[in-house]
Amino acid sequence: MLTPSVDVKPRTDESTTVEPAAQPVKVQIGDSNRAVVVLSGGMDSAVCATLAVREYGAENVGALHVSYGQRTAAREKRAFTAVAERLGITTRLAVETPFFKAIGGSALTDAKIAVPDAGELIGHEIPVTYVPFRNAHLLAMAVSWAEVLGASKIYIGAVAQDSSGYPDCRPEFYEAYNLAVRRGTKAGDIEIVTPLIALRKHEIVSLGLELGAPFDLTWSCYSREDCACGVCDSCVLRLRAFEGAGSVDPVPYAPRVAGNK
Ligand SMILES: [Zn+2]
Repeated sequence: MLTPSVDVKPRTDESTTVEPAAQPVKVQIGDSNRAVVVLSGGMDSAVCATLAVREYGAENVGALHVSYGQRTAAREKRAFTAVAERLGITTRLAVETPFFKAIGGSALTDAKIAVPDAGELIGHEIPVTYVPFRNAHLLAMAVSWAEVLGASKIYIGAVAQDSSGYPDCRPEFYEAYNLAVRRGTKAGDIEIVTPLIALRKHEIVSLGLELGAPFDLTWSCYSREDCACGVCDSCVLRLRAFEGAGSVDPVPYAPRVAGNK
């Protein structure tokens, strides 16, 4: 079984430490020549899909999108389609899982819970935008599809550092999940890979720019579909990432953000 070495460095004091440029976790081509990528349409998943296409070729990559009743489901679905088209991925599966809305418990799926503006302490506690155990469901669908397609790798753009602090983005979750996949699938040779998990957000932007990832087609905002709000956790992390990479985010933002700059 091929296991990419996931090396998550502890957070260091950025004011005194110069970190070497981070690299995505190297994904070794699996036993089959096919891969599945979980493609939400956000920036991390777009970079992940670009990496998968680079490794496997667009004709050997299947893109899975899940509309789970989130506020911006329609906009994310459009982003998924546009990103997949730009990357030349024609094998696509779009799934709807309305049960997340019925379960609720998240600002993304329950209209009664407001999407908060980002605070100072992004990532220090699990925010109300966490969708309970969502990634486990997405991965289960990806694994089912991978078995049918004969794919041996599943790419997901989970990010552990510099993110909102969701527990289903931690490296140990993927290690544990991979064990379940090995035990519970026919051939037992499918592996979930998380090439971005140890990167900072600005490093993901730099990598995406280097690879030509279609950032202009992506959508990350949690609350708006016409233009990005610029104030939710996802928008703030994204804006900081582009700024940190010395670049400008190509997606449109609400005017008040431009006015605040
Ligand atoms: Zn937003």
